[in-house]
Amino acid sequence: MTPEDFRRHAHELVDWMADYMETVEQYPVRAQTAPGEIAATLPDAPPAEGEPMDRIFEDFKTDVMPGITHWQHPRFFAYFPANSSPPSVLAEMLTATLGAQCMLWQTSPAATEMETKVLDWLRQMTGLPAGLTGVIQDSASGAILCALLTAREKATEWQANEKGLGAQPKLTVYTSNQTHSATEKNVKIIGLGRENLRAIDVDESFALRPELLEAQIEADIAAGCVPTCVVASVGATGVGAVDPLRAIGEICERHDIFLHVDAAWAGTAWLLPEQRWMLDGIEYADSLVFNPHKWMLTNFDCSAHYVRDPNALVRTLSILPEFLKSREQGKIIDYRDWSVPLGRRFRALKLWMVIRSYGADGLRRIVRSHIDLAAELERWIAAEPDFEIVAPRSLALINFRYRPKDVREGEGLDRINAVLLERINDDGRIYLTQNKVRGQAAIRFSIGQTNTEHRHVAEGWDVVKEIARNLDSAAILAAD
Ligand SMILES: *Cc1c(COP(=O)(O)O)cnc(C)c1O
Repeated sequence: MTPEDFRRHAHELVDWMADYMETVEQYPVRAQTAPGEIAATLPDAPPAEGEPMDRIFEDFKTDVMPGITHWQHPRFFAYFPANSSPPSVLAEMLTATLGAQCMLWQTSPAATEMETKVLDWLRQMTGLPAGLTGVIQDSASGAILCALLTAREKATEWQANEKGLGAQPKLTVYTSNQTHSATEKNVKIIGLGRENLRAIDVDESFALRPELLEAQIEADIAAGCVPTCVVASVGATGVGAVDPLRAIGEICERHDIFLHVDAAWAGTAWLLPEQRWMLDGIEYADSLVFNPHKWMLTNFDCSAHYVRDPNALVRTLSILPEFLKSREQGKIIDYRDWSVPLGRRFRALKLWMVIRSYGADGLRRIVRSHIDLAAELERWIAAEPDFEIVAPRSLALINFRYRPKDVREGEGLDRINAVLLERINDDGRIYLTQNKVRGQAAIRFSIGQTNTEHRHVAEGWDVVKEIARNLDSAAILAAD
């Protein structure tokens, strides 16, 4: 493709992109295709000769688009948001065009220096303490991996890296039973063993109970284990639980345990001074992560990972083969030593463009509006006798269930709610996710797409009520 051809196709695609942004509400939110349907449209073998871009783009529209779930639909209320914005997309176009591998300072000084600077902007915008230094990771899972590795090396005086885990005592890790599965996955990945992950019970607001944490730590020490890391959640996935950082931090300090804070979704809410109560005790954290790629208008991937002691992270991860040595060593940052992959995209650019384009206050207005909308939805749900809020609202996340009066508590209600969710998502006007709260089926309603407004939430709630009240509960239960 010549630069002239590229120019023509790029203009066509940009027109399509702008049209998509304008018309995304016309699509069903969740893809309505059956498994295998999209694969059936794709040839089994690759083309031997190149094909014209016009034809490829036609196939994208006819064959690929039906299999897309529209995360940038303003009635996307499933999971957590993974929102995006026009400035972020523009930045990605530049990043892809430059195609730079930003693993060393030398391999693109601008990428390294902007990353350092923009993460410090973000630290200031969110009210995080000055002693934290940031790096962009591919995901919150990746940041938790780095945190657990650093904790493991600190607990073994950097001997696990040298000699492996065989010579080490049992290293134990602690989280609440609400924690995202990424912690368990990483405990397995780094070889600590799932058995050595302790899931601590929570209180009535789903927050980790510090007295149980400390009792477990003491029991483990007595049994010859080495408590290595606590992963606290601020905004856990299910109901958005917030663990008490100060009480947990004091325990970690007493027992010299590494404290990582997983705020993948909720961290963006720290843009708002009224939400910073969650940060009480953050000075105890050795590291924390939150994802601008969830709620801060910056498209995936962009996880902001902050560490108190960058040297510990670098000492854990650095390797230095000959071809990676550089003249500037020691004087500058080589971010390849701060994360697992060697190669790195220029991800700071999109954060820089988003923050400059909206300004800190522009971002605050959007995030605050999502939380206000959720508060309003909470009142609507509470006002309906046949619906029930099953966990306290957390920021812009609500868990509720349908509870028609002719169905008794127990499996019947779980079944009704499962069918309700299926019908809602098949309907296509909105998209929600299932949950289990205290063992009972619940439905999560999570607000956070960039363009979600009052009318979208109101329409969403109308869809839920309409489909729920058209359910034939007796027929559903009889069919089981
Ligand atoms: C989404 C989420 C994660 C995982 O995030 P990735 O960036 O996809 O790895 C981890 N923890 C919490 C609390 C989350 O909400």
